[in-house]
Amino acid sequence: MKELAEKIQSLKNEALRFFDQAQSEEDLYQTKVRYLGKKGELTEILKNLGQLPPADRPILGALANQLRSDLEEAYQKRTTQIKETKILKTLEADQIDLTLPGLELPRGSLHPVHQVLSDMKNVFRRMGFDIFEGPEIESDYYNFEALNIPENHPARDMQDTFYLGGPQDKKLLRTHTSPVQIRVMEKEKPPIQMVAPGVVYRRDSDVSHTPMFHQIEGLLVDRGISLAHLKGVIEVFLRAIFSSDIKVQFRPSYFPFTEPSAEVDIECVFCKSSLSCRICKGTGWLEIMGCGMVHPAVFEKVWINPQIFTGFAFGIGIERVAMLKYGINDIRLFFENDLRFLEQF
Ligand SMILES: [Zn+2]
Repeated sequence: MKELAEKIQSLKNEALRFFDQAQSEEDLYQTKVRYLGKKGELTEILKNLGQLPPADRPILGALANQLRSDLEEAYQKRTTQIKETKILKTLEADQIDLTLPGLELPRGSLHPVHQVLSDMKNVFRRMGFDIFEGPEIESDYYNFEALNIPENHPARDMQDTFYLGGPQDKKLLRTHTSPVQIRVMEKEKPPIQMVAPGVVYRRDSDVSHTPMFHQIEGLLVDRGISLAHLKGVIEVFLRAIFSSDIKVQFRPSYFPFTEPSAEVDIECVFCKSSLSCRICKGTGWLEIMGCGMVHPAVFEKVWINPQIFTGFAFGIGIERVAMLKYGINDIRLFFENDLRFLEQF
């Protein structure tokens, strides 16, 4: 019995030393398995208790149980210590100096085309216009035929239009936002008051043309709408976008889908009329948009009676307005994504 008691004591000393020396949770686990596990040394002792003389059993049993609880306590204590050390080390490694100045994140800004477009939409919204969008891949019908652009009109020329497949396929990338007018008039009954912003495509590329650009189209249809309403809306719009005292003039023009049609000019924002101005070529005026009264043939396509209803339509190039507003001389700058350019807005 004395022998076994001594064995328990030395086992205890040995185990406590190992628990104490363990440096990681893995070490601790191994030590726990070795002494307290199912095949551990303590379990071995407990198994053999049954072979002892009955008188010795309670004393040795108590010793063995005490050993188990001592070892478990040592294990728990060391586990907590190791965990705390680990946390402290992590905290030390991740220490942050709160007094250091922060990193400044570069701030983006809206693209100038987007800015101008959103200003325009706001002006029209305030005047009571609803905003509609339409598909960029259009049929020949919506892009041309319904807008009174006949079969042999130059606007249908392969030089201007991106056809998908070929002209015979009747699918194309819309060359203007006007097809949206047709789509809306087919579904809605007058009064209709809408603008349609969006991307359009033409086979063009130089300092003032890109193959893709943005337009906003406007349409107002009701009883008794006249050229005077058109003039009023356009003037309010241009003064809101450029300046409250800008001069505006209307020149007669031709578009297949409006009659009469007009081209709208604003006074040159660069020179206010100087003979040497390269932008307005000394005329003092800049062409800004096209407009007119909706052609009766267009109304007939969408089953609106031109005897009862009249309306006006207009179209503006967004990039053109942005160029004049910000004094930009090359339209391609908008699409090159050069941050030195974009950061200026
Ligand atoms: Zn000028």
